[in-house]
Amino acid sequence: MQTLWQDLCYGVCRLVKQREGVFGQFMKTLSAILLLWSVCTLPQRISAQTPARTVIAANVVLDGKGGVLRNTRIVIEGGRIVAPDPKAGPVNYDLRGLTVMPGWIDAHVHITWSFGKDGKNASFGTESPETAYAAAANAWATLRAGFTTVQSVGSPLDLPLREAIRQGVLPGPRLLTAVEALVGRGEASGTPEEIRVFIRKQKAAGADVIKIMASGGIRQGEKTLSQEQLNAACGEANKLGLRTLVHAYRDAVPAALQAGCTQIEHGIGATDEVLKSLAEKGVYFDPQTGGVILNYLENKERFVGTLGFPATLEGFAPMSELPPLAHDIVRRALQVPGLKIVFGSDALAGMHGHNAEEFIQRVRIGGMAPMAALVSAQSLGAEALRMSDQIGAIAPGLQADIIALDGDPLKDITAVRRVVFVMKGGVVYRHDAR
Ligand SMILES: [Zn+2]
Repeated sequence: MQTLWQDLCYGVCRLVKQREGVFGQFMKTLSAILLLWSVCTLPQRISAQTPARTVIAANVVLDGKGGVLRNTRIVIEGGRIVAPDPKAGPVNYDLRGLTVMPGWIDAHVHITWSFGKDGKNASFGTESPETAYAAAANAWATLRAGFTTVQSVGSPLDLPLREAIRQGVLPGPRLLTAVEALVGRGEASGTPEEIRVFIRKQKAAGADVIKIMASGGIRQGEKTLSQEQLNAACGEANKLGLRTLVHAYRDAVPAALQAGCTQIEHGIGATDEVLKSLAEKGVYFDPQTGGVILNYLENKERFVGTLGFPATLEGFAPMSELPPLAHDIVRRALQVPGLKIVFGSDALAGMHGHNAEEFIQRVRIGGMAPMAALVSAQSLGAEALRMSDQIGAIAPGLQADIIALDGDPLKDITAVRRVVFVMKGGVVYRHDAR
């Protein structure tokens, strides 16, 4: 296309040089129009490379809701799934021998956090050209790992990244963002009215969700927002139709429940009674099995002395006591009938592209059934995002977010590490040679 356009430009320029007068003026105008057309339609012409109709052949398809389809073909048109149709053809992607399923949804990531050029953790308030490029690289790594939708819980880099991905300028998962989290600081967090103003400000800025930090440290940290403040935050979000993700431990969990918040993150120290109440009220729960803590320990030289982390390496020692607490909450949560446990990896610097490790840990440590673990990042994850009509299943009308694994995750959950095919919205981003 580029060569053709260069030839055309060259030809037009020569003609303009040769001819004077009205014809020359006409050719100049035509040339300008062609140039404008070429620039303006470039994105459409690139995306037009996506075929209007695509057919995937598969012999095992997990439908994202717990069902399995066998020996079928998935028809995709305009980026959406038309229907499974065993007779459809011609086949564009033959994924027989792989396990095909809806792309995964990660409800809790920090997609813009990375290790900076000095090798140290670059997260809160360290935005720079380097961290912006690193965020783009994180998005690509996450998408290649099979995550076609992620929810980033707040960073100044989230919005531009979300828009770049939405416009197809950068490859990455469909990104939802909290824009700026409400960080509980006791009285300093503001009056209930000030908190309501803060929530409205996030909505106006384009937030898809509200993130609230309602607890201090993992082990003993107190509640950082009063009941009145939490009521204001989640009450205002509910009024605006926004979901709320609340970082909460121990007594902050029932407080968030009482405030009408819609999803609890982490939840260490929540009692069985509180977990039952979450199930009764239909509040989503997103505990992690400790991967984030192991990542801190493995990379302590990179985290030490950065904002929010111990100043010395010795300061990391108490962290090794935390994984059992994380295992405990996941194990107990899985015993609660009807509790809606969604998938959230808490991926931050060092973890992007390895989000799927949380599946393995939930199955191995928590004893979660592999199918339930996958569904928590598919139809259940979509429901928690209020996007069931868009993503999370292989069903007519939904976005063609389709991945394939080399192996059977129902028999060996480590197959989640072997993503070999990724399609998002009908566009293929990964198709490894076989
Ligand atoms: Zn987090």
